[in-house]
Amino acid sequence: MMMIIKGACPNCGGPITEKRLRAGLPCNKCLPDKYLKEVREKGLRHVITSLGKAKGLVNVFLLEDELKEFEEFFHSLTGKKFWSIQKAWARRILARESFALIAPTGVGKTTLLQTYAIFRAVKGAEVLYIVPTRELMKQVISSLKTLSGEKVPILDSEQFKKMRDDLPKGRIDVLTHAFIFRNKDMFDGKRYSLVVVDDFDALLKSSSLIDLILKALGISDEGIELARKVVALKSELYFHKYAGNEEKVNEVSTKLYETELMLANAIGLESVGQLLIASATGRAKGTRIKVLRELLGFEVGSIMDYLRNIVELVSPAEEVDLADLIKRLEGGTLVFVSKELGISEAKRVTEYLNSRGIKAAIANSRKPLEWLREGKADVLVGVSTYYGILTRGIDEPLRIYNTVFWGVPKFEFNLESLLTNPRGLAKALYEVSKKGYELGEEEKYILRAFSRLSPGKLKVLQGGLRGYVELEGYLKELKERTEAIIPKVLNFISRYVAENGKFVTGSYI
Ligand SMILES: [Zn+2]
Repeated sequence: MMMIIKGACPNCGGPITEKRLRAGLPCNKCLPDKYLKEVREKGLRHVITSLGKAKGLVNVFLLEDELKEFEEFFHSLTGKKFWSIQKAWARRILARESFALIAPTGVGKTTLLQTYAIFRAVKGAEVLYIVPTRELMKQVISSLKTLSGEKVPILDSEQFKKMRDDLPKGRIDVLTHAFIFRNKDMFDGKRYSLVVVDDFDALLKSSSLIDLILKALGISDEGIELARKVVALKSELYFHKYAGNEEKVNEVSTKLYETELMLANAIGLESVGQLLIASATGRAKGTRIKVLRELLGFEVGSIMDYLRNIVELVSPAEEVDLADLIKRLEGGTLVFVSKELGISEAKRVTEYLNSRGIKAAIANSRKPLEWLREGKADVLVGVSTYYGILTRGIDEPLRIYNTVFWGVPKFEFNLESLLTNPRGLAKALYEVSKKGYELGEEEKYILRAFSRLSPGKLKVLQGGLRGYVELEGYLKELKERTEAIIPKVLNFISRYVAENGKFVTGSYI
């Protein structure tokens, strides 16, 4: 069977077969079959250009040129070549996408971002580089200066303050959150083509700082306002969907569509700058991130998006001999022992591997990481927690090839705290209703009520449900009616688990 996909030819935007798409080729109108051999010999770019048929692909070719230029620039500054992940990031960066580079420290995020900042500044762009502390400000400046060989002006907060009315073009301002926060008025009317943010979490705590960055990137107050409205409408839509209120779904969808159009008009994407964020965890949630997504197409990706050249296998623990398994693996291995098995199991596993002649060490400090680097250990064993030594800050791509989870890695979360979050409760109601829980008038009432609340009000309600704030009036009533539902859902789930052994949901709630 041949699948034809409408509007997907990367060159003309016409229909194209799946096979061509997979091969990275344009449709057969753009590139008739008889030229395929020539493409194999001389490359797509050469053939399609000489046929005079390059349309949409011109952008791809330009991007290729820029990538090559940037790669050479990177090499001349750092003496290094791109890692594959840096190359994948570089493509998106050069396409002027705004996004978060999420990866543990040591993968080369910072080097890439700093080189790119210099690359842009050399070409005359204004770059703002935001760091969390003064200490880091000094570090970043010294590293930027070393990399750039003083090719571009790099200003710290003192210099920025002094020169603020007469700033040179093509420069990098390295400033702290606190400085920007205290001197907001200095940024009135300042525009940046690129804003780089080191450390996400601190930034997300301040809505006014985000607004300032957005304005510096060329987004109007109106644009920010409309983006907030889009986020609120999407949240409203979410509840209507779970409440099964089709009329409302249609009404809100229409409103959402109109607002999105207004937003698109208000932004004028060509003139908006680029926002790049470096983060080690990428655990970004909440309304502020959503506003960024609406305004900049900002996506919080994960390292997994790029490193999918991974084979995943599962086998029952009783059928596997860990030592036999590890002996068959190439390169270094991390063994993650499931949390509930604990440190004693991690010790047992380590001793067992040692007894079988494998150089294994338990990762209870940073020392074993050095052993791994130096080849004194081939296997590190740890308990799988989110902030464990093995999870964070390991930078040994040349040593670590395999990861073995001994016991299923899992997240534990508190069901009660999930149900006191209106979104969580709505999703849970949807899941239990599929398993025989009957949604009564009260359930439908609260779902409808949630759908009418702004994201801010929902947060307040959640605070009330968790006993953090005293509510009044309507929200108090809604809180009480919600509280009457929560134990019913809890009971249903515990009964269900008692009878069936587990409660499987469509997605994690
Ligand atoms: Zn085509």
